[in-house]
Amino acid sequence: MLGGGPAALCIASELHQRGVVVEGIAPEPVNAPWPNTYGIWVDELKAVGLDHLLEHRWSDTVSYFGSGGSSVDDLPTAHGIGYGLFDRAALQDHWLQRAIGVVWHRDTAQRVEAGNNQTLVTCASGDVRKARLVIDASGSGSPHIRRPDQGPVAGQAAYGVVGRFSEAPIRGGRFVLMDYRSHHLSERQRLEPPTFLYAMDLGDGVFFVEETSLALAPAVPYDVLKQRLMQRLADRGVQITDVLHEEFCLFPMNLPLPDRTQPVLAFGGAASMVHPASGYMVGALLRRAPGLADSLADALSDPSLTPAALARRGWQALWPPELVLRHQLYQFGLGRLMGFNERLLRTHFATFFSLAKEDWFGFLTNTLPLPRLMAVMLRLFALSPWDLRRGLVLGAAKQQAPEFRG
Ligand SMILES: Cc1cc2nc3c(=O)[nH]c(=O)nc-3n(C[C@H](O)[C@H](O)[C@H](O)COP(=O)(O)OP(=O)(O)OC[C@H]3O[C@@H](n4cnc5c(N)ncnc54)[C@H](O)[C@@H]3O)c2cc1C
Repeated sequence: MLGGGPAALCIASELHQRGVVVEGIAPEPVNAPWPNTYGIWVDELKAVGLDHLLEHRWSDTVSYFGSGGSSVDDLPTAHGIGYGLFDRAALQDHWLQRAIGVVWHRDTAQRVEAGNNQTLVTCASGDVRKARLVIDASGSGSPHIRRPDQGPVAGQAAYGVVGRFSEAPIRGGRFVLMDYRSHHLSERQRLEPPTFLYAMDLGDGVFFVEETSLALAPAVPYDVLKQRLMQRLADRGVQITDVLHEEFCLFPMNLPLPDRTQPVLAFGGAASMVHPASGYMVGALLRRAPGLADSLADALSDPSLTPAALARRGWQALWPPELVLRHQLYQFGLGRLMGFNERLLRTHFATFFSLAKEDWFGFLTNTLPLPRLMAVMLRLFALSPWDLRRGLVLGAAKQQAPEFRG
């Protein structure tokens, strides 16, 4: 197992629970605190019976898609579904407790070579480790996983601050998924790729506010995001009085699926498991790890299977045709969205969240079967105003969304 992040711990624990002997390689101790905060819809976590792992949860969950005019007219869209933030240490501990007995080597994998009987991993320390199957869970930047080059990869970028403010930047007790209101931007800024505010009240006078670009290639620079966050806060007459933590977030949204004939398996970011329309992944780890672990435990019980054959069984279980097709639909959708100017994007999301709750929730969590997902996408199209339909079909708004000009 390569990696010590959420994906590595999740699949290592599931395999260990099935009696598979697992060894891990990670540069940091596996109980070292993770740098990222992870959010998830409460119902998504409840479905896997783990909502006790949340540190914060909100029932007042809203977005703003605005009118483009004065903020006074803008009423929030209420989502009616709870959202939560993981207690990171509790999530990590949940997996580590289920993986007691797994040996973790503090090292960095430098080269991975699959042979007929075993795969060799050469580490930075000079140690060479052997396994029947190597699972790369070392994140989306892994050099050990082959994937096709499909051109520039769009990144989700965000700049955020956990801190105290001169007054509440959002209503107390609230979670804001997306605030796309743009009245505080100049005419020129409104022609640039849109960004939104993701924000939450963390209690005790502390809020997290983050200016986010859903996806763009190349990604929106941090200084632009920071400047936009400050502009948004200034428009509300709010100053930051105490910065407790700054978050710089960047990860690929539409990384091509890995070559599923390679003899090394991947999981998590390395396996392109980030949802291309939302950027979320932890729910997918929790849902998909048990099935993958079942298939791998079964395959490993056959001593005649080579590393290539084991990896093939893993890839088939992780990315069956249904999930590949759904992924392609999401990637297509994201490609269209990336061309939208801020007005079209606001219209798009307002239409999207007017869908039935189970449909938009199923779309965002990738839990709708393919025929239903297609029906939801067609319904979204039917509900869309004409200019949005044109954008969805032709990507027609692209020329109206120039890159940042600094
Ligand atoms: C700032 C940020 C916020 C996010 N927020 C959310 C969210 O709210 N909800 C959500 O669902 N998703 C979120 N995501 C997306 C996704 O869930 C995360 O990127 C997640 O951390 C990916 O998990 P991973 O284990 O695949 O990779 P990583 O978390 O990147 O972990 C990779 C691990 O591999 C190790 N490693 C790297 N190279 C090697 C090597 N050569 N050998 C051995 N080990 C190696 C690293 O040290 C690390 O332990 C967020 C991403 C970011 C960047």
